[in-house]
Amino acid sequence: MRVVLLGPPGAGKGTQAQVVARHLGVPAISTGDVFRDHVSGGTELGRRARACVDAGDLVPDELTVAMVRDRLASPDAGDGFVLDGFPRTVPQAEQLRALLAKTDLALTSVVELLVDTQELVRRLSTRVVLVDGRPSRREDDDPDTVRHRLTVYETQTRPVSDWYAAQGLLTRVVAEGPVDDVTSDVVAVLE
Ligand code: ADP
Ligand code: ADP
Ligand code: ADP
Repeated sequence: MRVVLLGPPGAGKGTQAQVVARHLGVPAISTGDVFRDHVSGGTELGRRARACVDAGDLVPDELTVAMVRDRLASPDAGDGFVLDGFPRTVPQAEQLRALLAKTDLALTSVVELLVDTQELVRRLSTRVVLVDGRPSRREDDDPDTVRHRLTVYETQTRPVSDWYAAQGLLTRVVAEGPVDDVTSDVVAVLE
């Protein structure tokens, strides 16, 4: 199965992608995680992406699509994947479609997680992540950057869900209840 999880910052994409991918037996691919790994590893990609990630802006499509193309070419993604955080622009979505079409593949399903803005802000203001095994806060989870990321979502990524909806690929899931309930709802969409 080839699944895309869409949703604003804090909607639970990362949380759900891990569980749903395990359930499906495919890798969860988080473009945010990949960028953060490259930034902390000081790679060329990390150097080019850093300013955007820190500011809560999107990394340019060209860099992002090239990274995803490499990642999808690795053997573990051969039987499917759950994409968390990609695509985030309509050009990214178009390029993903073209990339899959080269091997006669297409997405199975796109699930958009819906969460009220106040709840998003609450979740991001308390999000704890593990960095080298130690609990830490993401620098882009500070209140000003969160506000900016929510605006970026509305202007650049909301059109992606409309684009998928127009193709009949999109299902919206209210993602405000307990994590396990949301997982059940997402898995039900995929069955
Ligand atoms: P995203 O990847 O969409 O930014 P995350 O999966 O990182 O979202 O979740 C953001 C924060 O909200 C994390 O601290 C996570 O533990 C928490 N969270 C995720 N799902 C839920 C939920 N259903 N109810 C309450 N908190 C949640
Ligand atoms: P969130 O938890 O807010 O959904 P992510 O961890 O998915 O955030 O992404 C963190 C940052 O990584 C984004 O603010 C952006 O700078 C970059 N990023 C992730 N995915 C993409 C993408 N598909 N296109 C451009 N930039 C991206
Ligand atoms: P190397 O230095 O061994 O080439 P990279 O850091 O370039 O490793 O990563 C190899 C591939 O794995 C790249 O396509 C990259 O996008 C992907 N990748 C790296 N980190 C992650 C991650 N946390 N989750 C998913 N894919 C990742």
